[in-house]
Amino acid sequence: MEKRYDVVIIGGGPAGYSAALYCVRAGFSTLVLEMLSAGGQMSTTTQVDNYPGFEDGIDGFELAEKMQAGAERFGAVSEFAEVTGLQLASSPKIISTSSGDVEARTVVLATGAAPRKLELADEEELIGRGVAYCATCDGMYYKDKVVAVAGGGNSAAADALTLSKICKKVYLVHRRDSLRAGKGYLDALTQAKNIEFVWNAQIDRLLHEEKLTGLALTDRVTGKQTTLACDGVFVAIGRVPNTALLDGQLALDAQGYIEADESTRTSLPGVFAAGDVRTKPLRQIVTAAADGAVASKYIEEYLQRQQ
Ligand SMILES: Cc1cc2nc3c(=O)[nH]c(=O)nc-3n(C[C@H](O)[C@H](O)[C@H](O)COP(=O)(O)OP(=O)(O)OC[C@H]3O[C@@H](n4cnc5c(N)ncnc54)[C@H](O)[C@@H]3O)c2cc1C
Repeated sequence: MEKRYDVVIIGGGPAGYSAALYCVRAGFSTLVLEMLSAGGQMSTTTQVDNYPGFEDGIDGFELAEKMQAGAERFGAVSEFAEVTGLQLASSPKIISTSSGDVEARTVVLATGAAPRKLELADEEELIGRGVAYCATCDGMYYKDKVVAVAGGGNSAAADALTLSKICKKVYLVHRRDSLRAGKGYLDALTQAKNIEFVWNAQIDRLLHEEKLTGLALTDRVTGKQTTLACDGVFVAIGRVPNTALLDGQLALDAQGYIEADESTRTSLPGVFAAGDVRTKPLRQIVTAAADGAVASKYIEEYLQRQQ
C-alpha cells in the first residue's frame, strides 16, 4: 500500500466512492479503505429503485461495482483492509489498518451506520423475504399487503405513516404502552384509518415458511401469547453509527452520529464525515452520494489553505 495520500476515505459505500470520484477528479491522490466489499449497506439489497438514473432500478451490488469502477477510472485507489486506529489530530493524520499504516492530509469518515436488529432466529435469512429495515427503500414491495412496524420512536412512527399510504394494513408493534414519537406523529398516526397499535408486545419469533408469515408475540403485562399474521415486518428500533473507531476524537451527537453539518466538516480541521455516519435527516444512497461530493469541495478549500 502507498503510504501517503491527500485524501484517505474510510468506508467504500456510496458516500465513500462519491467522495473518491470527486476528490480524484479535483486532482488529489485518493485512497478508499474498505473492510468488506464496495457498496456498504446498499450491496445487501437486490433492488434499488430510488437512485436516479436507473429506470428499471438496479441491483445494489451492481450499483456498488459501478461506483467503485467510476472512481477508479480516474485513479482513485481501493484497498480492502480494516481501519483499526486513527490519529486524527496529528499532521499528517495517521490511519492504522490491518495492512499497515497510511498517512493522510485529510480524512473522510464514511463508515456508515447499521440498522439495529431484533436479534431473533432466522432474521438474517428473512431479509428481503419479509424482514426489512427501511420503509422508504422497501415499502413498495409490500403494496396492498399487511405489515408490522416494530418500534416506538419517531422513525417507527414515520415508517408506519409511510407504509400506511402503500399497504392495506399496518400494525405498529411496541414494547411499551405509549410511543416516544413526537405529537405531530401521534396525531397523524391516530388519524390514519389503516394503522392499528399493538401495545406492550414483545416479538418472540419470526414465523415463516420461505417468506415471513407473521410474528409470535407475548403481552409484557398479561403474559398472553398471540400470533400476528403479516407479510412483512419493518424493524425501526434505531441504528448504530459505526463510530467506535473514533475513540472520543470527534464531537458526536446524542445518538452517537458524527456532528457535521451540510458542509460535512467535523469538529477537527481536515476531517470530514459523509453519509449515514453523520447527523442528518435522511439516510439514503442519494444523500450519502451527495455528501461525498460536498466533502470534496471543503477538502479542496482546506488543502488550498495548507499550501
Ligand atoms: C437492506 C437495505 C436496503 C437499503 N435499500 C436502500 C434503497 O433502496 N435506496 C436507498 O437510497 N437506500 C437504501 N438503503 C440505505 C443505504 O444503503 C444507505 O443509506 C447508504 O448505503 C449509506 O451509505 P454510506 O456510504 O454512508 O454508508 P454504508 O453504506 O454503511 O457504507 C459504509 C462502509 O464503511 C465500511 N467500514 C465501516 N467501518 C470500517 C472500518 N473500520 N474499516 C474499513 N471499512 C469500514 C463498511 O464495511 C461499509 O462498506 C438500504 C439499506 C439497507 C440496510
